[in-house]
Amino acid sequence: MNAEIIVVGSELLTPFRQDTNSLYLTEKLNQLGVDVRRKTIVADDQKQIAELTRVALSRSDILIFSGGLGPTEDDLTREGVAEALQLELQRDPEMLAAFEVRAAARGWKMTANNHKQADVIAGAIVLANSNGTAPGQWITRKHDGRERILLLLPGPPHELKAIFEEQCMARLRTVLPTQFIVTRVLKITGIGESQCDARVAPIYKGYTDVQTTILAGAGEVQLHLKTHADSIDAAQKRVDKLVEEIENELGDLVFSDTGESLEQIVNYYLQMRNVSLAVAESCTGGLVAERLTSISGSSRYFLGGAVVYSNELKTRFADVPAEMIEKHGAVSEEVARALAEGIRKRCGASFGMGITGIAGPTGGSAEKPVGLVFHALASEAGVEVVRKIFPGDRKHIRWFASQTALDMVRRKLM
Ligand code: AMP
Ligand code: MG
Repeated sequence: MNAEIIVVGSELLTPFRQDTNSLYLTEKLNQLGVDVRRKTIVADDQKQIAELTRVALSRSDILIFSGGLGPTEDDLTREGVAEALQLELQRDPEMLAAFEVRAAARGWKMTANNHKQADVIAGAIVLANSNGTAPGQWITRKHDGRERILLLLPGPPHELKAIFEEQCMARLRTVLPTQFIVTRVLKITGIGESQCDARVAPIYKGYTDVQTTILAGAGEVQLHLKTHADSIDAAQKRVDKLVEEIENELGDLVFSDTGESLEQIVNYYLQMRNVSLAVAESCTGGLVAERLTSISGSSRYFLGGAVVYSNELKTRFADVPAEMIEKHGAVSEEVARALAEGIRKRCGASFGMGITGIAGPTGGSAEKPVGLVFHALASEAGVEVVRKIFPGDRKHIRWFASQTALDMVRRKLM
């Protein structure tokens, strides 16, 4: 079974409002084993809604409409769907009476335009709205010999969710074949998207029953895997097998196979090894500390550190000798090493991280271009340094530097 989501609302075709209902609906449909094949945002225009409904009926089993069930002139989903199905709209007197009671209980006076929220498409099942006035509607229809389901849901997210949760999930389960969807997210760092795909495509191409999507950005590559089966075990086994093969190919480039962020993984390793970390950050301005402290419970392993942007503070807070900065420059392997060792000793940490670089757009030179970053990780056993030249703007360079720093810690501890 496949579904199509039709989002109605002219405001969602402006730069000011974003459709989020379809994301919620997709998550819920996937839980029911239903794939969303298409979604469309359409204006509050009866003709366009009707036209889209006719097309959707010819290609999808389940049509879910979001929005346009309110009381105002521009709420036209009922009218558009009724037009497409060539069915009457019938005003439900019991529902009208219930609106009156509800309004009276809140001390409101019903205005005439509210009445149209009681218009029901002939033959529809009315889906009560526990968070608002406009009810949803459930319509079944045979098209080309196949049973179609059309669901009309109101636009306000808390109303749509209430109706879907309370009135639709159980009903859909009774009409859908038992299907399970299992998804898995692999996160990879230290390799680009095309390089990664070149290595894993020959593997996932052998799994035609698993949908594989590769996404890249922010210093990591993600592989999203998704499969269907008629039992959860069968679906899980299939995905697990593919994950195993990909991990064998990529080795320690994969930092998570269950969707965690890099900072979560680093926190996990610090905890598991029972070691502590402190950082002295120059060009990242505290980004590494920010990312690590975003994880609850990190205070046990991440001690803290210093943002040492000026040369003077590199010396005062991390004991980098002023002559060293004078001789090699603040952005140098020597200073990165000294920052890592200095902060480790100052903070009494098992590991010290030092980061110094040129985030740009100014300050670069032929010898030390924008994007050049030195990352050093110090421990009792010594200091390791990674030198990188990152592409992109200031924001990107700082993010990549924090990503590399966290990954050095991960690799050290894994
Ligand atoms: P409606 O009465 O259905 O036109 O929707 C009322 C309000 O719900 C809109 O003004 C939006 O603020 C919100 N809304 C409608 N559709 C969506 C959507 N697809 N995603 C998120 N919010 C929505
Ligand atoms: Mg609207």
